[in-house]
Amino acid sequence: MPRDFLKNVKPVYDVVVIGSGLAGLTAANVLGRAGYRVLLLEQHYKLGGLATWFKRPGGYLFDVSLHGFPHGMIKSCRRYWTREIADSIVQLKHIRFDNPMFSLTTTFDREDFTRLLVTRFHVAPETVSQFFDTVRAMNFYDDQSLTSRGLFDRFFPQREDVIRLLMEPIVYANGSTLEDPAITYGIVFSNFMSKGVFSFEGGTDRLIRLMGDELGRNGVDIAIRSNVDRILVRRGAVAGVRVGGREIAARAVVSNANLVDTIMRLLGPDHCDRQYLDQAREVRLNNSSTQVYIALKPDEMLDESTGDLLFSSTAPRFQTDLLLSRDITSRTFSFYYPRARPAAPPRCLIVSSTNARFEDWAHSSPKEYAASKRDLIESTLDALDRYVPDCRARIAHVEAATPRTFEHYTRHLGGASFGTKFEGLAVSRNLSQQVRGLYHAGSVGIIMSGWLGAINYGVIVANDVDAMLSRAADGS
Ligand SMILES: Cc1cc2nc3c(=O)[nH]c(=O)nc-3n(C[C@H](O)[C@H](O)[C@H](O)COP(=O)(O)OP(=O)(O)OC[C@H]3O[C@@H](n4cnc5c(N)ncnc54)[C@H](O)[C@@H]3O)c2cc1C
Repeated sequence: MPRDFLKNVKPVYDVVVIGSGLAGLTAANVLGRAGYRVLLLEQHYKLGGLATWFKRPGGYLFDVSLHGFPHGMIKSCRRYWTREIADSIVQLKHIRFDNPMFSLTTTFDREDFTRLLVTRFHVAPETVSQFFDTVRAMNFYDDQSLTSRGLFDRFFPQREDVIRLLMEPIVYANGSTLEDPAITYGIVFSNFMSKGVFSFEGGTDRLIRLMGDELGRNGVDIAIRSNVDRILVRRGAVAGVRVGGREIAARAVVSNANLVDTIMRLLGPDHCDRQYLDQAREVRLNNSSTQVYIALKPDEMLDESTGDLLFSSTAPRFQTDLLLSRDITSRTFSFYYPRARPAAPPRCLIVSSTNARFEDWAHSSPKEYAASKRDLIESTLDALDRYVPDCRARIAHVEAATPRTFEHYTRHLGGASFGTKFEGLAVSRNLSQQVRGLYHAGSVGIIMSGWLGAINYGVIVANDVDAMLSRAADGS
């Protein structure tokens, strides 16, 4: 008999959360802690969404999206999760760039970037300072017609090298391009510049385990392998969800599933007005990714001067669309040393990531797909050899993931790594105006993506739900 993952689920909740990405987990935790009866439903067999990991024989454990996040995670985790989680966040101090324009190592904060821009790139100190002040002051209500290209042209005209230094990491961090609104760049860049790049000691598996424990303490019911196939609506208000052939009633539903999938499939267009649907149809998905996971043999150690994060490129010029090309010239290498998992056997692992287009991978036959993956692995090892000499002889395990892999595990349309482009934010925020009690919390709008963006968006939406349920309780 197949196991019934919904066995302990009750027929009625205050809130059902669909999806256990970081936004869904956080929304569930905040609402559970506030005393609501919350059910978290996840279609995969483990929690975390894109914040995930996998094991391979030989004591190898790969993190998929733990490459770096801003310092703000400490505050968010302390407030909305636990002190133990917040206290496990550690800085990555060796961020490297290597491309035909420059090679350097930095701590990736305002102070060190100012030093580099002034002494190495010979930019006037006043310009650097004005640039940092401008991006730090940016917020959601700013002029959205200014693009990142426009912003850079204002401060650093004709300086492709400076733009590359400032922009390349953010393209990897949230998939934004020079044509996107400058605020999507400015907000995320300033978050990093405040104190640098951080990681989670013990790995993603430990983080998600600690989050699961906290959800349990806050009384949140959790069901994995539970794929919601419908959001139920009655008289313009959310009524619950359908999952595994059962209907579960709820006063509010928070969907952490892909925004477009939430509206077009789980809810269905009939429940939305024409203007909103037109807006929703205009929402562009963000790009996807490829990754190559590389484990060194147990006795093969890397010197930490190799770096924590390495933005490597062989492209002579910097173009954001080149970062999406199948003909890969730019990769981010994450190097994991034994200190990343102090409690585990000492291992050195490397994950290479590139941004990618789903359509470049979607339609190939099984044979072509296997050959393309092989090619991705081989070209990555060629590129890695420069930083890890003789790497092929030192490797115990290597495998690749493509946009199809990300779509398969998270159900994100097009395997989107960072949700939607900017226009998705307004559509996500306005969902509850279409169906009372229905909210979306998950990577959207470039800003609300990444580990910190997703957690913070989960909090914002939990507060909206709380306000709505409180109003309903006192009849206002
Ligand atoms: C290769 C890669 C590298 C990355 N690196 C970084 C990094 O270094 N730093 C950083 O900050 N961010 C990084 N990110 C981005 C970051 O991981 C994501 O932005 C963030 O984890 C997304 O969280 P989320 O809450 O939007 O939900 P997601 O992680 O997208 O999770 C959505 C969840 O909903 C579930 N779901 C979907 N549909 C249903 C359904 N119908 N029923 C039940 N469950 C459903 C899915 O299974 C999934 O668990 C990376 C992403 C990728 C792909």
